[in-house]
Formats: sequence, C-alpha cells, structure tokens
Amino acid sequence: MACGKVYLVGAGPGDPELMTLKAKRLLGEADVVLFDRLLDPRMLDGVEALKIDVGKNAGRHKLTQDGINRLLIEKAEAGNMVVRLKGGDPYLFGRGGEEALALQEKGIPFEVVPGVTSSIAAPELAGIPVTHRAVASSLTIVTGHEEPGKEAPLDWKAIAALGGTLVVLMGVSRLEQNVAALINAGKSPETPAAMVEKGGWKQQRMISATLATIAEKAKDRKIESPAILVVGDVVRLARKLGRRKVAILRPEGQQKESAALAEQYGFSPVQAPAIAIAKKPLPDDILKRLARVQCVAFTSANGVKMALESTAIRAALAEKMVVAIGPKTMQALVELGLSAEVPEEYSSAGLEKMIKGKCSSILFLRSAQGSRYLSEGLKSCGIYVDDIALYETVPSKDPRLDELIMMARSIDIFAFTSSSTARYLVERARELGQVQEMFEAFAAGTVAAIGLPTAEELSRLGIKVDVMPEKFTFEAMLCILKELG
Ligand code: SAH
Repeated sequence: MACGKVYLVGAGPGDPELMTLKAKRLLGEADVVLFDRLLDPRMLDGVEALKIDVGKNAGRHKLTQDGINRLLIEKAEAGNMVVRLKGGDPYLFGRGGEEALALQEKGIPFEVVPGVTSSIAAPELAGIPVTHRAVASSLTIVTGHEEPGKEAPLDWKAIAALGGTLVVLMGVSRLEQNVAALINAGKSPETPAAMVEKGGWKQQRMISATLATIAEKAKDRKIESPAILVVGDVVRLARKLGRRKVAILRPEGQQKESAALAEQYGFSPVQAPAIAIAKKPLPDDILKRLARVQCVAFTSANGVKMALESTAIRAALAEKMVVAIGPKTMQALVELGLSAEVPEEYSSAGLEKMIKGKCSSILFLRSAQGSRYLSEGLKSCGIYVDDIALYETVPSKDPRLDELIMMARSIDIFAFTSSSTARYLVERARELGQVQEMFEAFAAGTVAAIGLPTAEELSRLGIKVDVMPEKFTFEAMLCILKELG
C-alpha cells in the first residue's frame, strides 16, 4: 500500500472558529486524527476519522513523545492521511519540529499547517496588543517550564534588559520562580503583568497586577494551565481594550435585548437565565377587586403583557389611573395602546409622591415574589393596597446557568436584576456542589444589584454588593459599571 501523508496542523488557541480553513478541510478529509487532550471537543464535531487522544497530560494513558512519533509513522505507513492537530501553532513550543523531523527521517511525506498561536491570541483576546506604538516595539516569547539542567538555560538577564513585551508560555507551575528570576535580573517589580488563562475559550480569564504581585494574585485566584504570563506596559491597554464578562441572569424573554445592550456598553455578555416566568391563573374575583381601586400599578413588562391578554382587564383599565414602575414597564403599556404614568423615582417614596392626592387605593398586578417593599410603604401612609400575583418566577433549569456556575470564576460582573435571580443562582450552585466557588467568584468579581430589594436579598444571602445604579434599570446598571471601569 502507498505511504500516506501527515499534516501537522495548528488548531489555534481553543475556539473552534479560530482554526484555519485549511485545518478544517483537512480534518474533514483525514483517515486518522491525533489530538491533545486540551483541544475543545467542538473542533472535532462532524469529523469521521479515527480519533486518537494522545494528550500528554492525560495521566493514566499518557503517550511519550516517542510514542506519538511512532504512532504517526505507523498510521502513515499504513497508507492513511493523518492529521496531527496541535494547540496554537505547531512549531511554537509544541514539539511540532520534533514530530516533523521524525517523519522526515523515515521518508514520510508531511506538511505543516500554521495556526493562530496562543502567545499572541490569548493576550489579544484579553485586550492586550503584544506590540503597540510608543509602548512596545518588540515581542519576546519564552518557555516558563524549563527543565533544570537543560543545556541552554534561559538568560534572564538578557530577557530583563530587552524591554518590549515578554510572553511566557507554560507559565503556571514555575510562575513564582520565573518572576523572581526576572526581578533579580533587574526588571522593575512595578512592571505591569498579566496572566491570561484559557484564552479564546468560554472560560477565558485575565488577571493583572505588577511583576511583584502577579504570582501571589495568580495563586490566590487559582490560575491554572493553560495560561500565559504577559509582562510589559502593553498590559495597561487591557483596561481600555479588554471586554469584561457580564453574567446576564434575567429570564429568557429578556436575554437577547439585555445581551445586545451589554455589548453596546463594551461588555462581553454571558447569557445564563437563572429564572423563568410561570403564569398563574387569574383569581375569580379579579374584576371586583379592580372595581374597588382607583389606581393600578405594574412593576414589569411581563406583568403588563400577561394582564392585557384578558380583554375584561383591558376594559377595566381604561377607567383607572395606570402606573408603571420604570420605563420598560411603561413602554410595554404604550406598545399595547395604554398610557401610564411613571414616578420620577422607582421606589415606594416616588410612587407615594406621585399618587398622593390623586388616589387613595391601588392594586398591584405583578409577580408573586415581587418585593412587598413598595406596597408596605404605601400602606403605612394610609393608602388601600391590594395585590394580585399574575405570575411567579421559578428556577430556570437552563443548562446555560449550570455552565455559568461551573465557570463562575471567569466572570467579571454578576448583574442581578431581581432578588429571585440571586436566590436561584445560589440555590443552583448549592445543588451542583459549587457554592464555595460561587462565593469566591462573587468576592473576586463585581456584584451589581439593579435596585434596593435586590441588594437587600444579596446581603441576606451573604453576598457583598459593589454597585447599584441610582435609577433602577438594567441600562443604568451597565452605565455605572462602565464608568467604574
Ligand atoms: N503551540 C502552542 C503552544 C504550546 S505550549 C501555541 O502556539 O499556542 C503550551 C502552552 O501554551 C501552555 O502552557 C500555555 O502557556 C499556552 N497556551 C496554549 N493555549 C492557550 C490558551 N488558550 N490560553 C492561554 N495559554 C495557552
């Protein structure tokens, strides 16, 4: 049988969309694919070839480099078209050169297919350009995982003197020693430094500090491999060019709009509904109760939509003063052809001020779990308050929430838009045995509450609230998060 061919193919840093077209095509044509454990399984979606995991970190069944070389040769000699898929670019610290030499020695045809290297892509995706005019005009890439006693050890003195940007691959296990070596060699301890973990993956995470403090911070935040260390003034650019990940926990119906808004404000939205909306049957006496009040208040667009499905309610509303707590609720009413008034301040005080002198009785049409904080305030100043629950919020059971919980420490901002989003997120984390990790993520990241009731619920759960907008809307929350940087 004719000898096959081996393609040494770069897979990019992890996101399947960052593979080259040629890599994708070759995967489709291959008879055998040899890959490393760290590759995103989605890269091999639809690939029919025999897939062999030669992951060198795989523990029990690890193949030595010689073993991988032998396997490549054996598969090619049997006439197969073999793709050896390697992380990033095959010839940068991936031992791709060694594999190529082994094939060349045996006279086996091979071809190398370049890939997007993590040494540039991971910092880039975290908002760090590796060179930048007037900041860094050179880039040095080194391995941080040198085996002691190697023939040509790294010359840290020369590296420290270089200026420009330094990228250290395989930088986790010896981070402390490498940083110390750089400082000892004369690099300023104040030089900005960052670790980018899992660049281009969903779980991508970046921490930044100074050379003097990065190792401790990395340990504290449990930075794991694969990650790279970036040292140099370019790290500062991440403040402007990086996109912080914000978890959007709202129900499905509000996800798309909220994610688009978050993008507009320069964030990277992670959609993870924590709650879902379940409609409740209307009470039989609803029309009687409507007749008893002068004013009807809605606290959410959901409530408006559900109430106005009933033509009887719609007719009854025509004769009432209709109040919307907040602009989105107002918009929903207007879209359905009703006009409404909105208090200047979205609180019980604001509501009280607005209806004072105009009406003495009010009916809330809203969620079963909505905070009673608005109604309590009104009752205490002598207003007759009635309350009908149109719907209730229930746990979402959405797999995206579970995914978020499992990668919680890569989230920069948790945007809580109701007390139930907070409750169900914590409840689900507890069910998944991740509550401690979740609380560590809250502490390391930023916790935002849309308004007072949400902030109170977060405090009750033991979560420190970092940000609350003055105006209780999702957009105002994004706005203040952006300002705080
Ligand atoms: N040939 C690869 C590098 C192989 S060495 C490339 O060009 O990217 C393996 C090291 O690369 C890891 O220890 C880590 O430092 C880095 N690395 C690989 N993928 C990474 C990623 N997605 N994010 C951050 N670092 C990554």
